[in-house]
Amino acid sequence: MNKERVCIIGSGNWGSAVGKIIGQNVLNFPDLFEPQVNQWVFEESYKGEKLTELINREHENVKYLPGIKFGDNIKAVPDIVDACSGATVLVFVLPHQFVRGVCEKIKGSIAPNARGISLIKGLDISPEGITLFSQEISRMLDIDMAALSGANIADEVANEKFCETTIGCTSPENGDLFFKLFHTSYFRVNVIRDHVGVELCGALKNIVAVAAGFTDGLKYGSNTKAAIIRRGLMEMRKFGKTFFSTVESETFFESCGVADLITTCSGGRNRKVAEAYVTSGKPIEVLERELLNGQKLQGTLTAQEVHEFLLARKMVDEFPLFTTVYNICYEVSHHNICLT
Ligand code: NAD
Ligand code: 13P
Ligand code: CA
Repeated sequence: MNKERVCIIGSGNWGSAVGKIIGQNVLNFPDLFEPQVNQWVFEESYKGEKLTELINREHENVKYLPGIKFGDNIKAVPDIVDACSGATVLVFVLPHQFVRGVCEKIKGSIAPNARGISLIKGLDISPEGITLFSQEISRMLDIDMAALSGANIADEVANEKFCETTIGCTSPENGDLFFKLFHTSYFRVNVIRDHVGVELCGALKNIVAVAAGFTDGLKYGSNTKAAIIRRGLMEMRKFGKTFFSTVESETFFESCGVADLITTCSGGRNRKVAEAYVTSGKPIEVLERELLNGQKLQGTLTAQEVHEFLLARKMVDEFPLFTTVYNICYEVSHHNICLT
């Protein structure tokens, strides 16, 4: 049997944490996986050196996940086509704004039997409707795609603090493959069929996290945060069930649903930037640059895209929390922020 060759596309905060897990797990299944894993790194200079060279020397992503070592079987590759060459398993883990550009570059050079999994938390919305990134990647590259999402703050996972995650898969065979690639004693995988629900949760929770950050900025306390989480979960489920007929209610009780909402509303970067937006009054883009060290924010962009989608269907009033987040980010002066 030909062994699976894994390529990780992306090397930010989460991409690096996941690289540590994958680097170990491919070695745990030597009959199934090739030992070397390529990781595509968007090349940049860090303290005067190329990031790929630093990663390959230190076995650590010193910019996006400092202090965490991964196996020397993870090889940082700056050229995306080289990185994917011969790969049969593609792990997409990059901020959603960059996905299309990457797929454009690699389409035509992907192995015909390749499969992929998306760890991206975001949505793409056009006037015609919503495209999940797994669907878009699947369409552009003509490969089967699964989705992974859960209550997984990257730094905590990288430090091997116990957590759970959810993988949504179209076939049991792929479910088994991705379970072996990701599951560890501290990163517990549950595989379900509702891959659309998994991915929707990962994108929509970022809007709710922005709302949670606003309430922190306003010093509203735990009861308000709990109300935001509850209402957020209801709107996520309503959105999923209204626009995607296959989405199941149970999915919202998996790690990708309620658990991710809780963690992202307490420890995530969307929360952090939204809090600072209220307390400092600086524009979101400025705070993203000042507070996130090159990491990307997704919740505000997702709020805008979801708003445009709802507006086109005259349904903004049916999603008051999503609509309020959009209004605060894009329509009102920060002096007038009020959530009720
Ligand atoms: P990140 O926010 O750390 O993103 C920075 C990455 O974007 C870097 O690798 C950088 O090189 C790259 N980049 C910058 N400009 C680029 C360009 N023009 N083209 C391509 N790449 C460019 O990334 P992350 O935290 O790994 O997030 C990836 C996905 O995983 C996101 O959808 C995120 O929501 C999701 N996620 C993140 C976490 C977390 O805790 N960080 C946890 C779970 C899921
Ligand atoms: P943030 O993107 O808000 O940091 O959340 C990370 C995450 O997805 C936790 O599961
Ligand atoms: Ca769009």
